[in-house]
Amino acid sequence: MSTSETSLLSSVPSQLFIGGQWVDGSGSQAIEVEDPATGKVLKTIANATAEDALRALTAADEAQARWAKTAPRERAEILRRTFELVRERSEEFATLISLEMGKPIAEARGEVTYGNEFLRWFSEEASRISGRFGSNPEGTGNMLVTMRPVGPAFAITPWNFPLAMATRKIGPAIAAGCTIVVKPAELTPLTTLLLAKTMQEAGLPDGVLNVFTTNSSAATSGPIIADSRLRKLTFTGSTPVGVKLLEQAAQNVLRTSMELGGNAPFLVFEDADIDAAVTGAMQAKMRNIGQACTAANRFIVHESVAAEFASKFAEKMSALKLGRGVEADITCGPVINEKARTNIKRLVDSATSEGASIVTGGGATGSEGYFFEPTVIDHVKPGSSILSEEIFGPVAPIVRFKTEEEAVRLANDTEYGLVSYAFTEDLKRGMRLVESLDSGMSGINTGLVSNAAAPFGGVKQSGLGREGGAEGINEYLETRYVLFPKS
Ligand code: NAD
Repeated sequence: MSTSETSLLSSVPSQLFIGGQWVDGSGSQAIEVEDPATGKVLKTIANATAEDALRALTAADEAQARWAKTAPRERAEILRRTFELVRERSEEFATLISLEMGKPIAEARGEVTYGNEFLRWFSEEASRISGRFGSNPEGTGNMLVTMRPVGPAFAITPWNFPLAMATRKIGPAIAAGCTIVVKPAELTPLTTLLLAKTMQEAGLPDGVLNVFTTNSSAATSGPIIADSRLRKLTFTGSTPVGVKLLEQAAQNVLRTSMELGGNAPFLVFEDADIDAAVTGAMQAKMRNIGQACTAANRFIVHESVAAEFASKFAEKMSALKLGRGVEADITCGPVINEKARTNIKRLVDSATSEGASIVTGGGATGSEGYFFEPTVIDHVKPGSSILSEEIFGPVAPIVRFKTEEEAVRLANDTEYGLVSYAFTEDLKRGMRLVESLDSGMSGINTGLVSNAAAPFGGVKQSGLGREGGAEGINEYLETRYVLFPKS
């Protein structure tokens, strides 16, 4: 590890952030955060128990009433100051993301820009929270509708976008006047700790943001979710965990936002610009080494262009340079851990045992860390498990189709519905696809749709609610109605 990496890591807090104080965790075993490129420990941090987690909720609850009364402009300015600080320190944030998560430094810089944009966007939204006023239809009263913060929120985030998944929740919560407790993923918690330190420097009052790290997610989250002081649960992660959390949240009738798994189809039609489709495929598949909820999981390609698409795609995939993401010329990092790598291999092997053919890649690689070769597999059979499960790795299965109707049927044949991508030069077809694809988001002739100004979210088992855009702040607001009789 270089001296600048060591000094960056030592500047990251290792304790829990509760009520504006950095405090030790009571858990007996500290958490060791690993570099997935080497398997070596980067930093050891505090491990919270259920009691520590409840202390974080107490701090959020105690700060809630005061924070809800602050001027929207004041909340906006704290978010804006944090945005400026993160921008000034963007290289530190990018290096930290790359170290703990493994993505190439250029992509980590992209995540800093994208993740930080949620702070700027919601700083702008804070003072635009509006309501409405009008007469009732009977003409006997004036109806006033206002919005107010829902109350203390609890955020549980995944490991794949350590900054963006945190700011997408913290930004709107703070803008709306909610206090928040955040539990980052135990695999990549360091970026959230650095963000909390930065927000403290930006002047965020004590108790508005609280962060606890733990290796017992269920045992620490359960008591918070069951506590009547909590009013909102916001989760990004896998569908099975989301379902469990929804069951728990139901007992406390919590407002919930659920950003869950994806199984994005990527359609390439016979009239597509194949080179543009390959560029889009590289973005949609390889962002985050294939470990994104928006990752293209199924390439559904017209039989007349499938061979050309597969060979050009494989050429780009095999040209990627694998290694430790922080090194300048690396274009593909490791997957997050051995469990993820074993699962990817299982899916590839099951597809090939059913008759699919490997165009490039196909297996684990490297003497240390958790690397998997960028892989393209053609002639995958509809119904194969690689098409129904999230691959979450650098593997692109191709299924061939004959008609548009068949392509749409294959694309919608999943319980997920986060995002869909389609490449076609026919505008009318593009419009038909937007209408018929079951997903919360679609990209036509692009492999990248995420933007802080857009409502991000899915349908079916991909979740509930939207993050970002004008919609994002509503997830943290309650509607209140008042009637004034006309005398
Ligand atoms: P995960 O569901 O395993 O974990 C997500 C978070 O939940 C982590 O912080 C984890 O510690 C915590 N957790 C796990 N079990 C828990 C429990 N029983 N109670 C409370 N908390 C618990 O997901 P992951 O592996 O971190 O992330 C990958 C998944 O996230 C993929 O399915 C991906 O599609 C999804 N994801 C979705 C979006 C989106 O916006 N829709 C964005 C990023 C990732």
